[in-house]
Amino acid sequence: MTQQPPSNESPKEPPQKEDAPSHERPLERYRPYGLRVTDLRDQTWCEKQLEFTLEFGRKQTKAMKEGEQRHQELHEEITEIIKVKPRSREDLWGLHLYNSLAALLQLQRDGICRELPVFGPIGDTWLVGIIDELVMTEQNTISLTDTKTRKSPRLPTEAQKRTTRFQMMLYKGLFDRLSSGKTNEAIFFERLSVSPETPFTEEFQAGFTPEQLPATNLKTLAPLVFSCFQQAPPIEDPLLIRYEWQQDKSLLGVDAFPHSEAWLKIQINQTMPFWLGKRPARFVPHNEKWKCRFCPFRGQCSFAQR
Ligand code: SF4
Repeated sequence: MTQQPPSNESPKEPPQKEDAPSHERPLERYRPYGLRVTDLRDQTWCEKQLEFTLEFGRKQTKAMKEGEQRHQELHEEITEIIKVKPRSREDLWGLHLYNSLAALLQLQRDGICRELPVFGPIGDTWLVGIIDELVMTEQNTISLTDTKTRKSPRLPTEAQKRTTRFQMMLYKGLFDRLSSGKTNEAIFFERLSVSPETPFTEEFQAGFTPEQLPATNLKTLAPLVFSCFQQAPPIEDPLLIRYEWQQDKSLLGVDAFPHSEAWLKIQINQTMPFWLGKRPARFVPHNEKWKCRFCPFRGQCSFAQR
């Protein structure tokens, strides 16, 4: 398994006042190559906060760093991490596909995989996410789990649980479309501006053995990956979120809930108009103003001053 490519979000200076609205749609302005599942998750917490973060970046807190370290630790428990730096867009998608292939083969072989990239079209845009953990069950189905670490030894509020449930359902939605063949090779090349035949760069290829990366371009790698997705068993209900206390890694509780395609669709439909520039970013509703107390942008946000 390889390490994920570095994020392309680079923090900028914090804002002194709210910026004048740009005429560019947020999708082209901030995510020209597609959205991340975590963008949509953060949007359901507070759309305005997401917009501030996209525009100005956000400093990583200690809790965030510890959460990332825990994920890395869990990943390394079952996989050898290889460090590879993509140098072109084809390399970048080569890395996503390679990571998917390696994880799916590990699921077949060992009955468990972690950090599986999933992707596909959602309406007008392309969405990418990384599933935390899949485990094969005795019924030949797959169980989907995400581990969230908590700074305090308490379970999150309902509002926090809702955003994580949305994140999980997006993962399952992307996985289901890949395993049913709705997201396939033809759609992959049609929707992404990547060249199937352009070879991966020499530096990128040098990071793998020929056994690890059995392809020199996307045209030969993609069919292996899509076929592996199509052979995977279905993800079963319930979806599971494990909440761990950061201090001692003890389990605080598990949120188990059924996938709802109808609820997922409603949530996606509510998020898209912002990305497509059909309306400005929304503040939190009045009954959720308590969220502003924890917001890193409360000093700049006009709603928090009211
Ligand atoms: S202060 Fe409140 S409304 Fe404003 S961005 Fe932060 S959470 Fe959202």
